[in-house]
Amino acid sequence: MEICDLTLTEALNGLDKKEFSSQELVQSCLQRIDQVEDQLNSFITVTAELALKQARKADRLRSQGEKMALLGIPVGIKDIFCTKGIETTAGSNILKGYIPPYDATVVDRLKKAGAVIIGKLNLDAFAHGSSGENSDFGATRNPWNLEYVPGGSSSGSVAAVSAGECLFSLGTDTGGSIRLPASFCNLVGLKTTYGRVSRYGVIAMASSLDCPGPLTKTVEDMAKVLKIIAGPDHLDSTSLLDKLGQIRLNKTDLKGLKIGVAEELYPSQDQEEKTDADNIGLNEDVCLIVDAAINQLKKLGAEIKRISLPHTKFAVAAYYVLVPSEISSNLARYDGIRFPYSNRSGKNFWDIYTDTRGHGFGREAKRRIMIGTYTLSSGYYDAYYEKAQRIRTLIKRDFEKAFKKVHLIVAPTSPTPPFKFGERISDPLKMYLSDILTVSANLAGIPSLSLPAGFDRRGLPVGIQLMGPHLGEELLLQVGYAYQQTTNWHKQKPDLAVNG
Ligand code: GLN
Repeated sequence: MEICDLTLTEALNGLDKKEFSSQELVQSCLQRIDQVEDQLNSFITVTAELALKQARKADRLRSQGEKMALLGIPVGIKDIFCTKGIETTAGSNILKGYIPPYDATVVDRLKKAGAVIIGKLNLDAFAHGSSGENSDFGATRNPWNLEYVPGGSSSGSVAAVSAGECLFSLGTDTGGSIRLPASFCNLVGLKTTYGRVSRYGVIAMASSLDCPGPLTKTVEDMAKVLKIIAGPDHLDSTSLLDKLGQIRLNKTDLKGLKIGVAEELYPSQDQEEKTDADNIGLNEDVCLIVDAAINQLKKLGAEIKRISLPHTKFAVAAYYVLVPSEISSNLARYDGIRFPYSNRSGKNFWDIYTDTRGHGFGREAKRRIMIGTYTLSSGYYDAYYEKAQRIRTLIKRDFEKAFKKVHLIVAPTSPTPPFKFGERISDPLKMYLSDILTVSANLAGIPSLSLPAGFDRRGLPVGIQLMGPHLGEELLLQVGYAYQQTTNWHKQKPDLAVNG
């Protein structure tokens, strides 16, 4: 075990007690990057020199008694967040070479809290995907087994933390891109309430759903990072004014807490007749693990109640109308004029336009642009976009009603454990169905926390998610914390061969 394998909380203690310096911590991560990047491909850009410089500064400040919350801690940033002076690609050829003149608000907040940026992390291009295979910079591999996908779209963000290349990372969750990869790589991932964390400087996928958030090794680490990045931002007009208060991780039991299990997200297994929920395609090992997690919550004192979220069956369909609609509008700005891709010398406008959009966008972005253009076009708008918006409202109401009966809802994060490379990439519908359990929280705008909950028979990680009411982050973290106090899943580490 090296210091790069510590949790954020442990590393902060070690720094405080002068057991090691931030420079040593950063060196340890850089060494791990050297050892495993050939296998994983988590990073698009490693900012080694800059990180060492920031670490030296952090050490100096700490010796002067400075108490910034994340002082000297190495963080990896999904390459969809703008970073001043550091190339930001969104995983797409069309943005290759783009160096933003400003920092995303969350990046700015992390820097101001003293965190050290160690690099920009790989992702499915423009965050379109569930496996990490859709990156123009090559797929990322799962540190738990290199033949399997790490989950997407925050693929590099999970592989890097799980393998000790950085202590925590930032991701984005539009339809599950934080939670799904967290569950595939044994990490804690939080999709916050929409508007809780600023989107300013995050390259837009679907603006009404995009939620930036952290990926960490423990719930305790999660609370520390959330505290820094959450809160109002005048640069994002959809950011909420509500301030996140103190997050008190003080629950050791869950007495008095009602947790719902929705028939549509996790059907009861004793049912004789087939229902819509049986179409989820739940894997047997996932069910065993989720049952065990529910039992654990019960043991901690929670009361488990069966509930219903009747419109869940329409969630994926509505999501894959709304999201491409917003994507077709957001990606229209990459018109080949302002953003680089090709060598432009000697080319006329039309060549640049077709060359840039034609080659710069991959198949998935083009597919979504075309679907979205169709669903928004006159004559089809009512039939598709507007109808999907109505479904969105119904899904939101389902949750509002449910949260009158229970405090939280528990469900599997993904219907299956990690899958193999190539298994779904050529079948978009199959890939889209990976999101069947995560998209509802995005459509409803509510927070959801994915937690490590066990391993399947091949030794691959499986996660559960806890969904909470609007602005219910503190409760989610409290329950997640109580769960982690009595389980050891989050402490398991991948057995990755380190080269050199
Ligand atoms: N897999 C989903 C999609 O492709 C979610 C992506 C995301 O959350 N960024 O749309």
